[in-house]
Formats: sequence, structure tokens, C-alpha cells
Amino acid sequence: MVPERVRRLEPYKTETSKARVKLSSNELPFSIPEPLRERIKEEVSKIPIERYPDPQAKDLKEVVADFFGVSEENLILGNGSDELIYYLSSIFGDGGIYIPVPTFPIYSLSAEALGKRKVEVLLDEEFDVDLEASLKAVKNEGCTLAYYSYPNNPTGNLFSRDRIRKIREIGTVTVIDEAYYSFSGETFLEEALSREDTFVLRSLSKIGMAGLRIGVLIGREEVVKEIDKVRLPFNVTYPSRAIARVMLTEGREFIEDSVRKVVRERERLKKEMESMEEVEVFPSYANFILFRTPHPAKLVHSKLLERGVLVRDVSYMPKLERCLRVSVGTPEENDEFLEALCGVLRELS
Ligand SMILES: *Cc1c(COP(=O)(O)O)cnc(C)c1O
Repeated sequence: MVPERVRRLEPYKTETSKARVKLSSNELPFSIPEPLRERIKEEVSKIPIERYPDPQAKDLKEVVADFFGVSEENLILGNGSDELIYYLSSIFGDGGIYIPVPTFPIYSLSAEALGKRKVEVLLDEEFDVDLEASLKAVKNEGCTLAYYSYPNNPTGNLFSRDRIRKIREIGTVTVIDEAYYSFSGETFLEEALSREDTFVLRSLSKIGMAGLRIGVLIGREEVVKEIDKVRLPFNVTYPSRAIARVMLTEGREFIEDSVRKVVRERERLKKEMESMEEVEVFPSYANFILFRTPHPAKLVHSKLLERGVLVRDVSYMPKLERCLRVSVGTPEENDEFLEALCGVLRELS
């Protein structure tokens, strides 16, 4: 009874191996200061959990709009950006969904789950969008929707804006997934606010709130209003709203300070890794770094884990042979990772 396209899917898994140093999911490594934690407790204890929340989540929308510098009318909140990706694929994906790969797996999963055709085109040697191949594929297949992870997870780079725009000219609705915006500072926000064919996705997951599941879609009011009709009414829960409100207002300084520290550590980590003979390090505008060693990634991954450090093995993805992705942690965690990586490389060569 279950259709083939669903049976074919693999369950979404993240690694749950216990490790002293967890650098596998691009989370913010700093834990919340005690006073902020106390304020969250206070707010959560006031929630009328026997009641349905306001379906528009106006209380949280106000705060999110202010945090990202847009108007409430331009926003839709999702249960993570993942949910918003499902909405976008279901509404705009009928002609086929263009996905430059390797990238974040949820674009492709949404296409498969919703029975839309996905058109995956390999990135070029610089991990940039392959313009010629993409134009051809998008035209030939009649794609109506395109996803760009900007910066791209797991490669870490920013695609050329011109190439994204040229593909958009064919007539694809263009989604710029800026989950890592805080670490890159690069955005298509202006275009999302001025053009009906362009949307920006933001998320609270990478700035200290992965557990709350809150994603943000930004676009022009008249289109956002239409998309909002398919949204499940109570998709962001009371507790998440209450906690996010405290975090984005009273915790704003903590978040901004943490982001600055992560960016600083990213640059240090990158330099240190580049000084290791056998490590090829790729440029990153996010809170993680992609790197390649001469050894099988699976082996490096398990040897790092033996030393207490969990990273993500991304070598199963196209073009990423022998590649791993490490999230930027606290200075201490990064030191542990560097030492473990040195040890593993010495052991293997
Ligand atoms: C982590 C990540 C997200 C965040 O998804 P949420 O559902 O908001 O947690 C979105 N896009 C990309 C490319 C990511 O790496």
C-alpha cells in the first residue's frame, strides 16, 4: 500500500554516538548563562499549556521581525526551516525542483516525500553552481523551484550571486537558505523583499536554539500571505515561543557575542588545520569547516571518536570523497579536536 517513492526513502538520522566533544551538528557550542536560564524558567512556568496558542504566533513574530530587521507581514514561522522547505516544495515544486549538490539533504527529501521531481546538478570544482549544466537542466526539465544553501552545507562556501540570478531568469522560484547567515553576513534579503520569485530562509537553530525548532521564511507580503494558508496552524509550540522570545530579546547580547566568538574560532581553526601537512581545508563562511585527508573518511571519523571527538562524515556525498565536516566549537573543544586530528593522522601515516 505504501507508494514506492516513500518506501525508497531512508529514515533521517543524525549520529547519536556519545562523545566528549560533539562537533557534528553545527550547533552553537556555548550554553546559556544562568540568569537567562532563570528568566526562561519564569516565562515557561506562565504558559497556559491546556490552551491552544495563537495560530499566528504574533507574540513571537514581533520579536523575530525585529531581530532580523523585517516586518511581521514578510514572515512565516515554521517548525524549523525544515517544515518551511516542505511547504515551499509542495506549493512551487510541481514542475521539478532544482538542487545543486552536494548540499543539505532536506531539499531532496521534501521532493521525494511530496512526489515532486528533483533535478540534482553537481557543483563545479570550486563547489560553485555549475552554470552551464544548471541552465540546461533547469530549462530541459522545466524546473519551477530552486534551492540554494547560502553558505552551502556541507561545503561552507557561498555560491556566486550572478549564477543564482541567471538561473532565476529562466523562471524558477528561488529559495536562498540562509541558515548560517549570522556567520557569513551575506544575504539576499533585499531581493526577497522586492521580488515575488525570491525567498530567504533563516533559522534559530544555528544561533543557540536548535532544540526549539524555529525557522523563518521571508518574502513579499502578498506571496507570504498565500503560503501561510498551507501552514499547519499551531506549528510553533507555546514553550518554543516563550523561550525564543526571551532568547532574542534579553539573550540577544549573548547570541551576538557567541556568534562573534565562533567566527573568530573558525578562522583560528582553519589556520591550524591548514598548517597540517595532510589536511586539505576548504573555505568557510559558516560555523563549520569541510576538510579532506588522504585516508578513508570513515576511518578518520571512528579514530577521532575513539579520542572523544565526534565530527560528521560527509564522504558519502558526491564530490566529497575522504571529506569530513567539523563544527566550530568552544576554544577548548577546538583544541581537543586539533590534537585528536593530529594524533589520528600520525597514527594512520
Ligand atoms: C541546519 C540547517 C538548517 C536548519 O534547519 P532547521 O529545521 O531550522 O533546524 C537549514 N538549512 C541548512 C542548509 C542547514 O544546514
